[in-house]
Amino acid sequence: MYDIKKKIKVQSKKNIALVAHDYKKDELLNWVKKHRKILQFHHLMGTGTTATIIEEHTGLNIEKFASGPLGGDQQLGAKISESEIDVLIFFWDPLEMQPHDPDVKALLRISTLYNIAIGTCETTADYIISSPMFTDEYEVEIVDNNTNIKNRVESVEL
Ligand code: PGA
Repeated sequence: MYDIKKKIKVQSKKNIALVAHDYKKDELLNWVKKHRKILQFHHLMGTGTTATIIEEHTGLNIEKFASGPLGGDQQLGAKISESEIDVLIFFWDPLEMQPHDPDVKALLRISTLYNIAIGTCETTADYIISSPMFTDEYEVEIVDNNTNIKNRVESVEL
């Protein structure tokens, strides 16, 4: 039912979302500092607290959304479903309960569904940023929302 795919081109200038849970914010900040020279050429965005901390400590310009527990994860999810985010660097905390746990799960789910690059720890994030795909254009296959809706409308018995 949902297997209709389409190809989209991911530009060399990437749209990168940065998110970290509270005990992971220092880790993400250090990762951004380590890769600052590369990241400065891309469009950075993030959930409110994460984005503000990184901006203040690195001077990088970061588009800010709501704080994660107040809807920021869902805002990022919406952008992913519109192909406006190419890479998610999300240092989630595997040792702490989050009040917005359903939103965390939803963000990881929608990222996987739309086939974007997801870095959930330093090592994976390092792999992603070291890849030639990070600096080049590439084509990616994602679900074709419009065609899937058309097929579903036709298949629903009224
Ligand atoms: P924050 O949100 O950057 O506002 O802390 C992160 C999150 O918990 O999703």
